[in-house]
Parts: sequence; C-alpha cells; structure tokens
Amino acid sequence: MNKFLVLVVEDDAPVRNLITTTLNAHGYRYLTAENGETAILEVTSHNPDVILLDLGLPDIDGVEIIRRIRTWSNTPIIVISARSEDTDKIDALDAGADDYLTKPFSVEELLARLRVTQRHFALMAQEKSGGSVFVNGALRIDYAAGCAWLEEKELHLTPIEYKLLCLLSQNLGKVLTHTYITQQIWGSSWENDVASLRVFMATLRKKLESGGDSRQYIQTHVGIGYRMLRAE
Ligand code: CA
Repeated sequence: MNKFLVLVVEDDAPVRNLITTTLNAHGYRYLTAENGETAILEVTSHNPDVILLDLGLPDIDGVEIIRRIRTWSNTPIIVISARSEDTDKIDALDAGADDYLTKPFSVEELLARLRVTQRHFALMAQEKSGGSVFVNGALRIDYAAGCAWLEEKELHLTPIEYKLLCLLSQNLGKVLTHTYITQQIWGSSWENDVASLRVFMATLRKKLESGGDSRQYIQTHVGIGYRMLRAE
C-alpha cells in the first residue's frame, strides 16, 4: 500500500478520471480539485505529498497558483500542460514547480514522474538527518570540502562546473530551467549566459561520463533546461 497522498487539480473530467483511476490502481491516495480556489484550499487543509496541477484552469492561472502555494509550502508540484504551452511550462518551473507532464501523456509517464518525486522526497528526508555529503550512484559530493568524486576518483572540475554540479544535485529529480540556472550561477540570464551554460554543461557531462560508469546523471530537456537523475 502506497501512503502517498496526491492532489489532482484538473478541470477536464476525462483527464481527471484517467489520473485518479491510475492512482487508485497503484495504491496512491488522492484528492481532487476542479479549479484553483479549491486546489489552494485542499493544499492548506490536507497537506498532500505531491500536487498534479493542470496549468489551464477556469479561475486562477496555474502559474499564479504555484506562486501562492510556494509562499508557504514546498510540496512537490508536477504541472500538466498542453504541448503548445511551452512558455507556460517554463514560467511554471521558474515559479517553483518541480516537474512537468505534457498532454497527452501515458499512464506509465505519470507513474514514472510520481516515482521520481517519491525518491526525491525520501532523499530530502535523508539529507535533513545526514551530513553534507551527497551520494548518487557512483557520484559523491562533499559540499563542505568542495570536492566531488566519481567511482572514488576525484573529479577535476572548474569552479563553474562544480557550482553547476552542486546546483543540480541539490535539486535532484527537479527540472531546472536555463533562466534559473544562469541566474544562480552568473546572477543574470542573457542569451550569452544560456549559450555558455550549454558549453559548461557539455564539459561537465563529459567528465561525468568519462569513467567506466555508464549511468546518465544529467538529463537535457531541449528548450527548457536540465535535471539530475537519481542513479538506479
Ligand atoms: Ca484545463
């Protein structure tokens, strides 16, 4: 039995039913909301473990809902949007959403996103109780010492590559947008920064994939940003 409580915010009844049927079949508990006002109310009164949020709701704009929730809650938010709404997706991620699903999505995709969120949750709890060492597969980062290792071999990273690696690891499982990353690294987000980001990300990746370890640590979301994956 899965004790995870999912809040499903979706005004489209067929999509909502598909989601709740899937959740039911896989042992998730769930609540539903058909509009933004109800969604915010449900978050306050039931404190769900994850929120599935459709961006196109009849009353409040989805991005605005995320902003409001983020003023007092860190509950993971997975946004659901149509393929044509790429800018909305980026705005949602910048407002504090953790991940996204594009309509139409499969049941497998939905379950995979939920598993990523659950693992992220478990890791956050572990980090709260642990020290300053991050471990993911063969990758280890000692934040206090400012060093990173892959398969026990120290990684020789430039200061920017190291900063990027830390930023991604501290947001494990979460898609970070180009704007967010460049603002964190350079304090700005000009087009040139995004171009530089691509270069640094390519060199960082090369170093992460140089060993015998064939695991993929960094996932690219074309036109959106990057995410560090939890190594199996
Ligand atoms: Ca909708």
